[in-house]
Amino acid sequence: MPAATNLDPTTSDVSPDFRVAIIGGGITGINLALGLQARGVRYTLYERAPGFREIGAGIGFSPNAERAMIALDPAVQAAYKRSANPNGEDYFQWIDGHASDTLLYKLHVGRDGFQGGLRSAILEEWAKLVRDPDEHVRFGKTVDTITDGASDLTIHFSDGTTATADVVIGCDGIRSRVRQLILGSNSPAASPHYTSKYCYRALVPMEKAVAAIGEYKSFTRFMYNGPGAHIITYPVGGNTVLNVLAVLSDTKPWPDPTKHTAPGSKGEVTAAFEGWHPTVTKIAALFPEEMDKWAIFDMEEFPAPAYNKGRVAVAGDAAHATGPHLGAGGGLGIEDALVLAGLMEAVGKRVVSESGENKKALVEKALEVYNEVRYERTQAVVRVTRKACLLFHWQVPEVGDDGEKFGKAITPMFHKVWNYDVEGMVGDAVARLAAKLY
Ligand SMILES: Cc1cc2nc3c(=O)[nH]c(=O)nc-3n(C[C@H](O)[C@H](O)[C@H](O)COP(=O)(O)OP(=O)(O)OC[C@H]3O[C@@H](n4cnc5c(N)ncnc54)[C@H](O)[C@@H]3O)c2cc1C
Repeated sequence: MPAATNLDPTTSDVSPDFRVAIIGGGITGINLALGLQARGVRYTLYERAPGFREIGAGIGFSPNAERAMIALDPAVQAAYKRSANPNGEDYFQWIDGHASDTLLYKLHVGRDGFQGGLRSAILEEWAKLVRDPDEHVRFGKTVDTITDGASDLTIHFSDGTTATADVVIGCDGIRSRVRQLILGSNSPAASPHYTSKYCYRALVPMEKAVAAIGEYKSFTRFMYNGPGAHIITYPVGGNTVLNVLAVLSDTKPWPDPTKHTAPGSKGEVTAAFEGWHPTVTKIAALFPEEMDKWAIFDMEEFPAPAYNKGRVAVAGDAAHATGPHLGAGGGLGIEDALVLAGLMEAVGKRVVSESGENKKALVEKALEVYNEVRYERTQAVVRVTRKACLLFHWQVPEVGDDGEKFGKAITPMFHKVWNYDVEGMVGDAVARLAAKLY
């Protein structure tokens, strides 16, 4: 059963004396905001950009992510679905893109499952759900540091201003400042690390894509695999645009590990796929003449030892950045948002029902529980995501380009992500918190 939506926060039994600060308004931050709003929990979201915006092209959400959206607030999933593109077929289909252009393996994604959409359009739909944005959202606020006082936490922004809260949740992405504050800037886990994979992304007008590879291949999601590389294509924007992502294995270090992007070109993409099947070389030729290439970083080698410290925690990529290969990173952030919303609601109710209770200790216990219920699941996905890319690039010698062996190896990886009991996670967390309090 989805969680009930609290349409009127003024009737909430959550204390108005309990205030949550969210740092970052990407997928994780905005989902947390919407989950708190639905539960009547007072919050303010601080985002460094001048508005809600998403960098990048297309994205799709896995079944667990959709269930988490529904549990946050059914309106969240409905908003995603409004901007999602119809699936050509309800399958992931892997093609031998190198030699034969034939199907290696297909995996059912569920009815209307894993539909792709434009990131900007999905975020825009979610932003429309934020009630009283002038009260709850502050743009142009870059968190610099956080100080812990006897009562409040004080957030210091780079513009010299400050704000206070009872709890701070850093949803500030892969290069999270909040994670640095929790772990210390010298911790190897304070920064993400290069996975030796990089990618090129393009949004191609559909007429151009259809002219190159035909309607069937343009309106249906495919992944083309081969030695050391793969290309994913799926339609977005109501079948008006083909989202193309080419991922390559690298043998060199990324030139500047403090930067995600470097200048790239169509020539680099076409050279990387030279000698592949003509379907793939035609897709490679769809990239623009000049574009950025993106390094894929993650936190596999140096995971954060914990996602919480005192009354501060990190969620989404800020906690457990992962490669894109299972299409799971955004969904994990939404799961984090769901359990945090449930825990913050439980804390807020307790603050109102037991006056004089030590709010600080209560928040600290809730964040300990958050870490307990999220750590193992999220770390496992980070690890398995790297393995999935090795399979896509035919870099697992005992599997190689054998479709049957590939299917046996890849299916449990996706199912582990998708078949997760998001409602059970919230129930477990709230029960753990209650057990810690008695
Ligand atoms: C090529 C690619 C394809 C992907 N495809 C999928 C997919 O299909 N499905 C899926 O589920 N996932 C996918 N992912 C992963 C997904 O994009 C990420 O997991 C997700 O975007 C992370 O969201 P986030 O909100 O945690 O972080 P971010 O999106 O990075 O948001 C962080 C926000 O915090 C703000 N911020 C940063 N620092 C500060 C500061 N100091 N103060 C204030 N604000 C700050 C930023 O401006 C930003 O708005 C893909 C990733 C890549 C690279």
